[in-house]
Amino acid sequence: MIDYSFIWLISHSIIKFLKLKRTKFKKKLEKKIMKIEDNVYALESTKGSYSYLIKDKETILIDTGRPGKVKNILKEIDSLNINAKNIKHILLTHHDVDRIGNAVLLQKETGATLWASKEDIPYIFGDKSRPGVKKLGSLYAFLMRVKKPENIESYNDQKIDDIEIIRTPGHTPGHVSFLYKDVLFAGDLVRNSNGVLKKAPSIMNADEELIKDSIFKMSEYSFKWVCPCNGEPLEVKDEWKQLLNNI
Ligand SMILES: [Zn+2]
Repeated sequence: MIDYSFIWLISHSIIKFLKLKRTKFKKKLEKKIMKIEDNVYALESTKGSYSYLIKDKETILIDTGRPGKVKNILKEIDSLNINAKNIKHILLTHHDVDRIGNAVLLQKETGATLWASKEDIPYIFGDKSRPGVKKLGSLYAFLMRVKKPENIESYNDQKIDDIEIIRTPGHTPGHVSFLYKDVLFAGDLVRNSNGVLKKAPSIMNADEELIKDSIFKMSEYSFKWVCPCNGEPLEVKDEWKQLLNNI
């Protein structure tokens, strides 16, 4: 005769164990995620080429990291108790592959609207080819099967939620930065090299003079945090002024 109470006990214990394991995994992941301000996070799974998440009236993802990170990005978002389906917008700072790597798959998973500048959209579709060393980026995108979007919106000069869109061309023709409260999402306008802000290297920039102008233009704004793609988010005091002296 089958002892159903024993089977129930075993299956109940297994479910309990799996739930506990999942909770521990979520807590571990949550600890690793860098909280910049109350509702701004740097996603650990994109470390080295950061994507950021803002949870305000709407949930917004800024950039999407190198290709192949979709699963881990979604796990991280889940660990913050955010339903990925609530992401309303994915904002791209520019067209480079480490920014758009997971954009299309994340757009499909979340149903979010994908945004980029009108100057950079032709590069995302491959209608314009990336110049110089960035040709390697296009090859990388091809090898990694980075998909092209079916729908993408171009920025007007409007705000999206409480995020100000600031045109900062130079690294790419349509590079933009975003200002949200005290936090500047700088894309590849600058990078953080061990606590020192530096301009993106010349070889990677479409127009050296334009990127310098864009860095100077950002001095008109006030912000406490600089969140770049490359290097860690940095709480700034005089670092932006020092950057101006060094470019
Ligand atoms: Zn870039």
